[in-house]
Amino acid sequence: MLIVMDSTASPEMVKRVCDEIERLGLTAHSMPGAQRTAIGVTGNKARLDSNRILTMEGVGDIIHVTKPYKLVSREFFPENSVIDVDGVKVGGREFVIMAGPCSVESLEQTMIIAEHVAKAGCKILRGGAFKPRTSPYSFQGLGEDGLKILAQARDKFGLKIVTEAVDTDTIGLVAQYTDIVQIGARNMQNYSLLRKAGRVGKPILLKRGMSATLEEFLMAAEYIMAEGNRDVILCERGVRTFADHTRNTLDLSAIPFVKRMSHLPIISDPSHGTGKKDKVIPLSRASVAVGADGLQIEVHHKPEEALSDGAQAITPDGLMQLMKEVRALATVMDRDVP
Ligand code: PEP
Ligand code: MN
Repeated sequence: MLIVMDSTASPEMVKRVCDEIERLGLTAHSMPGAQRTAIGVTGNKARLDSNRILTMEGVGDIIHVTKPYKLVSREFFPENSVIDVDGVKVGGREFVIMAGPCSVESLEQTMIIAEHVAKAGCKILRGGAFKPRTSPYSFQGLGEDGLKILAQARDKFGLKIVTEAVDTDTIGLVAQYTDIVQIGARNMQNYSLLRKAGRVGKPILLKRGMSATLEEFLMAAEYIMAEGNRDVILCERGVRTFADHTRNTLDLSAIPFVKRMSHLPIISDPSHGTGKKDKVIPLSRASVAVGADGLQIEVHHKPEEALSDGAQAITPDGLMQLMKEVRALATVMDRDVP
């Protein structure tokens, strides 16, 4: 339920309505807007009797939100959310590119790639320190040492960093180092991890599960927002289909759908979305065209030696080319690429 206050309603009137909602055992989310304040109500298991609220001073209208997701929905927040990652804004005019290796493998490897990432004009460095691998015998990441390496690269090249948290035991540690905490496809419905992500005090990059519907995807974001964290960036990273010419099928139609249903920014990951390096640039171009807010790209200076996802890593030269093409298309879409 969404309570729309009159444009003349005073802060005291807003507070009285919020107090009444809390008294009923529900949660009130006050959302001041340019014209008027709206109050989102969550926690109601059944439809709430709205007559009592409607008669309160300053209340203009009550809208029943029909979608199962509330805080994530455009009905709750009509304006696009812009997530401020320590000065880098995701979801605004700028088309934001996060690039880097799949895994942090060593200080040297990360520094080499980070330098290329910064030179190409990207603002955010990606790299996994805790890796969710299909095989328990595959490289699992450098753990905290990997986080320290990322932090060093951030300081040296003036980048922000994004890295994955794979479980509730280590998400607090990851959040101490990183600017954005990534929740990966395999954990999209790990509800205890999502709840914790809502309380770590850092923006969250939530990747779509590999067979998740868009409603399930948005409900996963709702878990994070319901804990009080409004800084959620979504990421389309491809889903499983019968296609075998790619690793996954990048579902670009998800982007305009999510944009219509939600105010949250959504970026595209054509690296995991295709699993093939030669498809990364074409699908990056397409991502700009469908209205994505940015990209996540895997880059390696020696893809054939990468400890994970080498087949989908583009080289630093490839990244330069990608930036050039994306920059040209971004202009058409009225977006900026630095
Ligand atoms: C990754 O970003 O390296 C990763 C494992 O992504 P996903 O969760 O989308 O598979
Ligand atoms: Mn990867």
